[in-house]
Amino acid sequence: MTDPIEWNPQTRIVASGRPRATHEPLNAPIVVASTFGSAGDSPYSRDIGTDTWRAFEAFASDLEQADTVSFASGMAACAAVLAMAPNEARVAIPSDCYQGVAALAADAEADGRWTVHRIDTDDTARWVEVAATADLVWLESPSNPLLVIGDLATIGAAPRPASSLLVVDNTFATPLNQRPLDLGADVSVQSATKLLGGHSDLLSGLVATRRPDLGERLRRHRRLHGATPGALESYLALRGARTLSLRLEQSQRSAAVIAERLAQHAAVSIVRYPGLADHPGHEIAAAQLDGYGSMICFDLADGAAAEAACASTKLIRHATSLGGVESTMERRAGIPGQEHLPAGLIRMSVGIEHVEDVWADLDAAISR
Ligand SMILES: *Cc1c(COP(=O)(O)O)cnc(C)c1O
Repeated sequence: MTDPIEWNPQTRIVASGRPRATHEPLNAPIVVASTFGSAGDSPYSRDIGTDTWRAFEAFASDLEQADTVSFASGMAACAAVLAMAPNEARVAIPSDCYQGVAALAADAEADGRWTVHRIDTDDTARWVEVAATADLVWLESPSNPLLVIGDLATIGAAPRPASSLLVVDNTFATPLNQRPLDLGADVSVQSATKLLGGHSDLLSGLVATRRPDLGERLRRHRRLHGATPGALESYLALRGARTLSLRLEQSQRSAAVIAERLAQHAAVSIVRYPGLADHPGHEIAAAQLDGYGSMICFDLADGAAAEAACASTKLIRHATSLGGVESTMERRAGIPGQEHLPAGLIRMSVGIEHVEDVWADLDAAISR
């Protein structure tokens, strides 16, 4: 068999993480077991996993070209990484980032454990300055929800203490569009709940690292905190991920069309999509990403207009979360931890439906 490392990522997502013996099924089975006969090397699932999550991790490790540890959810993965910051740590997080990560950092600061700096994703000079002394730098690009672009290569190359951790939440880009570890990050995190799984039917999180010491610590955290993935979720995540390249391609092709049309729409004041030429991060995005992604944010006149639009779509589901085959949208400003958002902001996750059907539905909803 050819070494999978030589294959393109689109091939690896299809070929990796499969049983290899000639008599075995092509797909890893769903192994539902807490314990195994004591003669084997797998005495207890929480310690060492099952064949199902090992298959998903083998797949993800091949995709990331890095040791990849799976967790029960994206937040379990984020929490395991954040737990590596010691007491009295200086931690830097983006001013626009996933609200769960911001909440954990705020808790640690309120408990007196960390000093937390919140920095605008696109303020590269400030990130470089803080990285020189921070214990943990947490980046998210494109950011959730505002789709701000951070200069990962510049920040990744900035001088920082050997003991520090540079983390990138890669959920919006996926490993197909962006490879943070190649840009200098120690750790790349993603919620596999979103695009990787792609069907809104599971929770899962992944942490990828090329530092052997970190892989050990992450597995120890998972074992002792019990943040273990489920067998069915691992199976579904792997099954969903097989089509990531096709889904992502279609979603971002549609997202580009919809973003262009929203930018011309009378009811819309601002469109935030890194693929638009006038997006402030467009140039960095063009160099850093292989695709601009499936997420769009746009601003209607006010909160009431945004709520009314979300309530009146027929195809696009009014729902939170993102990255599924189905288009969804929601108003974000009402959500705790999202006070910085404009009242009329809608975050849309573009699915794989026919783009004209999605556009007709969206156009009708925002033109009311
Ligand atoms: C959803 C999300 C998470 C958390 O993942 P869950 O699977 O919901 O726990 C973390 N980061 C980003 C950017 C997300 O969108």
